[in-house]
Amino acid sequence: MTISSKKIIIAIDGFSGCGKSTLAKDLSAALHYTHIDTGALYRAITLHCIQHNINVADIHSVMAATTSADIKLKVEGHTTKTILNGEDVTDRIKNPDVAAKVSEVAKISSVRAHLKALQQSFGEQKGIVMDGRDIGTVIFPQAELKLFIIADIEERSRRRLLEMEEKGVSYTIEEVKANLLKRDHIDSSREVAPLKRADDAIIIDTTYLSRQDQLEKALSLVKEVKN
Ligand code: C5P
Repeated sequence: MTISSKKIIIAIDGFSGCGKSTLAKDLSAALHYTHIDTGALYRAITLHCIQHNINVADIHSVMAATTSADIKLKVEGHTTKTILNGEDVTDRIKNPDVAAKVSEVAKISSVRAHLKALQQSFGEQKGIVMDGRDIGTVIFPQAELKLFIIADIEERSRRRLLEMEEKGVSYTIEEVKANLLKRDHIDSSREVAPLKRADDAIIIDTTYLSRQDQLEKALSLVKEVKN
């Protein structure tokens, strides 16, 4: 498929475990774009709180931790590593202890404001695929292409469990499903930047689509936007 060389911003939002990051990774590799997984930023702050015994319900302490944590996203080819205080935490932040608390951290408005500027700075160059919960609505409302990814909860739980097993983390399907549903609820009902589809976002239901089919669908949408 030939696609013009004009660089754009692609915003991908959706519920936890729908395949946003996988699609964002594949899309950025196909287009030679940079992939920014914004969930990694919220997860890194959560890990920092865990490491410093900070109660995530204590908003002031979480905010202080947010400004003191040194979080960097290091782009290596088509993958992006998350570095917290000089340590590569890309795999560590996917663990259940972080997943259990991250949505509490992400609902704090001052934390979101702090991360907003950082996320927007990545867009200055264009040529990025950014995935999260509020990318098309708050971070890049001007993104040329917005996708909203959905999938059946049973399928989402199955995929997330597989991912955990590959990393050697022991978790049950019930625990995975409960965590996804809890985060869905907190993420979509919070006051600041709740998860919702931007009016101009295109829905992709990944339940019955293979990874390759998802990529092809997204690439055809990119082509339409660019031509
Ligand atoms: O995408 P991921 O599952 O890694 O995101 C972890 C959590 O970070 C989400 O459940 C949500 O609470 C928060 N998040 C957010 N806004 C984003 C990205 C993630 O609130 N843009």
